[in-house]
Amino acid sequence: PLALDALKERINIELRDEQHKGRDTPSSKEMLGLRETLPAYKLKHEFLKAVKNNQVLVVSGETGCGKTTQLPQFIIEEEIESLRGTECNIICTQPRRISAISVASRISSERGENLGETVGYQIRLEAKRSEKTRLLFCTTGVLLRRLVHEPELIGVSHILVDEIHERGINEDFLIIILRDLLPHRPDLRLILMSATINAEMFSKYFGNAPIIHIPGFTFPVAEVFLEDLLEKSCYNIKSDSINFSGNSRRRRQMDQKKDTLTELFEEVDIDSHFKAYRSSTRRSLDAWSPSQLDLSLVEATIEYVCQYERDGAILVFLTGWDEISKLLDKIKSNSFLGNSNKFLLLPLHGSMPTINQREIFERPPSNMRKIVIATNIAESSITINDVVFVIDCGKAKETSYDALNKLACLLPSWISKASALQRRGRAGRVQPGVCYRLYPRIIYDAMPQYQLPEILRTLLQELCLNIKSLQLGNIASFLAKALQPPDPLSVQNAIDLLKIIGALDDTEELTPLGHHLCSLPVDPNIGKMLLLASIFQCLDPALTIAAALAHRDPFVLPLNRKEEADEAKRSFAGDSYSDHIALLRAFEAWQHAKRNGRERQFCWENFLSPITLQMMEDMRNQFCRLLSDIGFLNKGRGLKEYNVYSEDVEMVCAILCAGLYPNVLQCKRRGKRTAFYSKEVGQGLDQHIRLCFAPFWWNLLASQTGEGIEMLGGYLHFSASKSVLQLIQKLRWELDKLLQRKIEDPELDIPSEGKGVVAAAIELLNNPNVK
Ligand code: ADP
Ligand code: MG
Repeated sequence: PLALDALKERINIELRDEQHKGRDTPSSKEMLGLRETLPAYKLKHEFLKAVKNNQVLVVSGETGCGKTTQLPQFIIEEEIESLRGTECNIICTQPRRISAISVASRISSERGENLGETVGYQIRLEAKRSEKTRLLFCTTGVLLRRLVHEPELIGVSHILVDEIHERGINEDFLIIILRDLLPHRPDLRLILMSATINAEMFSKYFGNAPIIHIPGFTFPVAEVFLEDLLEKSCYNIKSDSINFSGNSRRRRQMDQKKDTLTELFEEVDIDSHFKAYRSSTRRSLDAWSPSQLDLSLVEATIEYVCQYERDGAILVFLTGWDEISKLLDKIKSNSFLGNSNKFLLLPLHGSMPTINQREIFERPPSNMRKIVIATNIAESSITINDVVFVIDCGKAKETSYDALNKLACLLPSWISKASALQRRGRAGRVQPGVCYRLYPRIIYDAMPQYQLPEILRTLLQELCLNIKSLQLGNIASFLAKALQPPDPLSVQNAIDLLKIIGALDDTEELTPLGHHLCSLPVDPNIGKMLLLASIFQCLDPALTIAAALAHRDPFVLPLNRKEEADEAKRSFAGDSYSDHIALLRAFEAWQHAKRNGRERQFCWENFLSPITLQMMEDMRNQFCRLLSDIGFLNKGRGLKEYNVYSEDVEMVCAILCAGLYPNVLQCKRRGKRTAFYSKEVGQGLDQHIRLCFAPFWWNLLASQTGEGIEMLGGYLHFSASKSVLQLIQKLRWELDKLLQRKIEDPELDIPSEGKGVVAAAIELLNNPNVK
């Protein structure tokens, strides 16, 4: 023990010396100057004292005040300085991958170190950390997974849960677990960090834990609503022309300016929108939904700011990647904005692999205006200091769940007032700013105060699986302890569904299938489809279909050419009568067209969205990596091994049905083969329900057969044609055995060990006598 103590002491001294050395580098000296100006810096001592004296602490403060980059840093500095470096092991959770990386690398450079030394990050499938790492940024999901093996988090000294005000489902879940853990780990410190929203609620949840508020400073930000925007442009012209009425050259300029402005906003027929809104009977938020119009309006507003406002970066809030890339395209072909020497266009989206740090945060070269086009990730996770103009579309993608109809969807919806204020605040970091709200004031007034927490508006299947894999006992009673517990009906629906898909048994315990699904962070139905596809060697088509289901349908439905679009889709489906097979064939044809350099034309002719197809390709890669991670795909073995039956439509359909079950419909057609449809109850829908995925098939079949469409009650009902689902049912025991063996031996080789099940499946599929 003495030798160990001596060793520890030596390391502690080394750590301190290194910390001092880091501080002496020129860049970290310069950064220290910046750090000291952050509001958080003034509360350093108060904060450290509160951490020392309390097990739980809530810190709230305006976005950008230095919570994420400074508070964990204060702790690590203090611990290393007092020669406790070896005992110090801090975890700070982030809701998004991209912010975990961005913050970790920022702090490393503030400390004059390389990323992965004392400060590192870990996100799913990617990490930069070392033996030396004492402060780890990770996604909330990563910490939750770690809790499976380390329920008490032995060795962790501090946990900081960031962006807690966002009320993400993972964070809400994590704090239930941590609240239960604290009494068993009296030495563990928990710090909850939130923007200036609802700090009291978290404090109450943790037995009135103390709150530290970091007072922030932001410059005033003028608010321009849609109606003001139009008037403002007129007003500017009027006042200018008064001032310069004597100057004819100036007046000519003004006249030109007026023409351009009128032109700018002419394309955007806002008046008709106001009229439609006023005449609608329900003056609710839904009555204002000019989605098509939004982007032209955004474009016009950017152009307006660039032409007539002072210097300063512009931050545009849109709802998702699709809109961002559409707007980028629009801007590139815009005669004024398309000039790439004058404008630095930067997209910022949570699913971007990494962000171009420098460009986003730094001031652009002189004579260039920075325009960042972002999703709500720029609302509080990432702060860009030099933003002076915010353009807010007022919407964000949000999941909503309807417990009665058991449906969830991910749709752009109006943000809350709290978010709207947050977005506005982004414009006043360095000087007074302007926030252009591309919606009328009446809409703002109708916005809810706060957004509903995610746990109350989403499907709970994945959460329920996680509760089981963390061995947290009865699902319903565990969830009753949440900050705002979900509706018991939603919880029951989720449990029922997990039982039906075979992830939970009758006693609500994990089955072997459920066990593997826990380690796949995707919707359980999609996860099941992927696992089965790996075993039954038809992975490639399953990846494509899963990508479309998890993201969205690549087929676009132009209103005026709907019949042509339907025909294009139908020709892809061939005689499979399946909309999933249609999208599979479409994707394959797109890949082919892309290789031949005729992607654009192909998409145009076949009513496909290139953006969605590209996103699907990215998701396919992501799914592959996840499957490799849990040992269901061994690339070293060659992808062929996993695709032996990829061209076998019967096999693919079997896997599809087994995966999506019970959201499968059977449509009977007398005489001929049976066609089936799936009603996806997952997320990522552009229509309200996935049932509308291919409404035309639906109507077509209903009208041709004259028979009703019925919801299937169980696997066996699906045996009408070649018994694809009976197959899965019959093989269930063997499958379970295989999956169980895979738990016991994670190295188990699926292609060779699964041979028996696959052979049995093929025999069944080829046996015409099976009923
Ligand atoms: P909070 O967590 O309170 O919102 P942060 O700690 O994230 O605040 O940010 C504090 C300051 O550090 C902000 O002014 C922000 O712009 C700056 N900052 C954060 N990350 C970076 C980075 N990667 N590069 C440059 N500046 C950054
Ligand atoms: Mg932060």
